[in-house]
Amino acid sequence: MDTLKETLLTLILHLILFISLYACSDDSAMVTPTPPDDAVTRQLTENVIVVVIDGPRFSETWGLPGQSHIPYMSQRLAPKGTFFSNFQNEGYTLTLPGHTAILTGNYEQISNDGSQHPLAPSVLQHYLKQTGLDSTKAAIISSKAKLKALADTQHSEWSGRFQPMSNCGNHGRNRSDAETLQEVLNTIDNYQPHLMMVQFSGPDAKGHANNWPGYLYSIKETDSLVYELWNYIQQHEQYKDKTALLITNDHGRHADGHIDGFVNHGDRCESCKHISLLAIGPEFDHDTTITTHYEQTEIPVTISKLLRFNMQSQQNKAINPLLRHL
Ligand SMILES: [Zn+2]
Ligand SMILES: [Zn+2]
Repeated sequence: MDTLKETLLTLILHLILFISLYACSDDSAMVTPTPPDDAVTRQLTENVIVVVIDGPRFSETWGLPGQSHIPYMSQRLAPKGTFFSNFQNEGYTLTLPGHTAILTGNYEQISNDGSQHPLAPSVLQHYLKQTGLDSTKAAIISSKAKLKALADTQHSEWSGRFQPMSNCGNHGRNRSDAETLQEVLNTIDNYQPHLMMVQFSGPDAKGHANNWPGYLYSIKETDSLVYELWNYIQQHEQYKDKTALLITNDHGRHADGHIDGFVNHGDRCESCKHISLLAIGPEFDHDTTITTHYEQTEIPVTISKLLRFNMQSQQNKAINPLLRHL
């Protein structure tokens, strides 16, 4: 009888051991990582929007203690993204050359009146060529009419080809930044571009007009327009959590006491060169400040890596802190 009990007990123990081993192996099967194919094809950043706020000084934006003129960017958006405190225009600190550096990766001394296209093709043209998408999938939308010159290039192999959609000013005239934002939102609704450059011009226009209260007001206004744009894309199915927003400047302005101070810009003084970059997107670190030197010409190759296409002939280094999680 004791032997039978012992045999039964042994049998039960074996059964328990077998079940627990089986359950274990089943568990380990459940935690097997997703197939590599899935990881390779996953693409988090599907859209990139570059917002260029034209011509505020660092001293009235990020460099001002308390950052009181940019409450939305500094308090609501910066915690969601990566801020570059030593971002520079190392070329010509004028509007067309600054935007050209941001879009082509080259510092070019092109005319500042919009009468010349950049010498090199833009990141938007590279994107349209490589993806084969139609012109509505890349867009330049600006308050200043002369930025239409950025939609094409003088480069003989690219001139007139792969041009992005452009919506610059209103019938050859400049328009308000609020109107430009409305055009951006309409474009998002109607065409869903994957790559966009948006320009707001208020701080520069009021600076040139020697209107200090207007200059500060425009910095605050563009700050709120950027926040409105961010909220809009976060409610849009094709953009929500799939869009990188890069907020930067074409140039700063002279420091007080240098030539005519905030009224003008265009030389190599620190206050004209020192701009900013705030980057928010699904693959960027949150609540992070980078103090390393980066510059405008590194933006196009960074965009190409985020959107996973090859920007041929682009020799610049990328803004590596934005590519850590790719
Ligand atoms: Zn400018
Ligand atoms: Zn200057």
